[in-house]
Amino acid sequence: MSGLYVHIPFCESKCGYCDFYSIKRYKDSGFASDFVDTLTTEITQKSYLFKNQTVNTVYFGGGTPSILPLDDLERIFRAISDNYNLAPIVSNSNLSSIDSPLSSLECTLEINPEHATDEYFSHLQRLGFVNRLSTGFQAMTDNGLRYLGRRHTVKDNYRYIELCRKYNFNNFSVDYIFGYETLDDFQIEDAFRYFIDEGIPHISAYSLGIEDNTPFMLKLRKGEIHKMDDDFYLRQFLLIHDILESNGYNHYEISNYSLPNLHSRHNSNYWESVPYLGYGPSAHSYYDGSRSWNARTLQQYHRQIAEHQLFEENEILTPDDAFNEYIMLRLRTRKGIDIEYLTLHFSNYIEHFNKILRRRDLIEYLEVNDGYVRLNINGLFISDHIISEFFV
Ligand code: SF4
Repeated sequence: MSGLYVHIPFCESKCGYCDFYSIKRYKDSGFASDFVDTLTTEITQKSYLFKNQTVNTVYFGGGTPSILPLDDLERIFRAISDNYNLAPIVSNSNLSSIDSPLSSLECTLEINPEHATDEYFSHLQRLGFVNRLSTGFQAMTDNGLRYLGRRHTVKDNYRYIELCRKYNFNNFSVDYIFGYETLDDFQIEDAFRYFIDEGIPHISAYSLGIEDNTPFMLKLRKGEIHKMDDDFYLRQFLLIHDILESNGYNHYEISNYSLPNLHSRHNSNYWESVPYLGYGPSAHSYYDGSRSWNARTLQQYHRQIAEHQLFEENEILTPDDAFNEYIMLRLRTRKGIDIEYLTLHFSNYIEHFNKILRRRDLIEYLEVNDGYVRLNINGLFISDHIISEFFV
């Protein structure tokens, strides 16, 4: 089992909070062809690394993948299918319901709401290989969207859902941001009531972070926006958790909720330490106990691939790194740490692990049952702090 991630590093503008690597390009403006040439070369170059793997998930993320003409997306996917052993593809139109067999390929495409048109969706449906969609709604008021620096409107969000239904893309996810000054609890209740009524299969809810080198950091320094306190974040985090869990959603990772069996298989593979390869500028890979990175900027990336360099950097995980990584990935999830697995694979760390587990200041945030150690809902909210306490 393995996954592939393709990073499309272009956006039409920069959202206020975003610190992903992306450069400004306009949709269908003919900019993509050199990039797609390099990307398909990279996909071919790296294929021998996974010659014994079956690929179960492919994820087109960014940036803004929907900025690419769909013919280019098809060219990228053909390079993948010609060079890797893909699990069988069940196209969205052949799915009688929203169940996609776990043995089939999950192929996700991120689409920005403003790019959702009849023409785009019908072309995508004809291509047949994308069977899961993900989009950043981020807010369900036009004020909220303006605050966050998004290019679309709430009307675009509504149209997006209509098109998903019309073209039978029934396995899809929406992102939502909370924890900023103009967002009140009533707006959250309205947004999530709408999501529930529409039966949105998967929702990712992120608290707004103000990162270095973002437009928001600049505004924060100038006093044009304000950071909220932890109580405000916690209240909105719990509000979303309560609304969704009481309506049948499974809160399966800090920021992710799904209806039964509709979790993101691609992201779940990351948390299960399943090997993956990443393509495109700044993409990461993980396989054979090592982590690797591509060059960060587009220019350096073109050079890296032209020089037949598989990665810009590569790091073999030490036993300590592997333990820390297992703790970090598994405590993010509601499934948690499998004690039997820990005993089998990290026996040298069990004494250290149990010592931290018994700490009085942490005990109120942890649950131990059914052979698993996991964070409870208050623990999930401060997961970074608790996870770091377990590190060696
Ligand atoms: S949030 Fe998405 S669309 Fe906005 S700048 Fe970042 S990658 Fe681009």
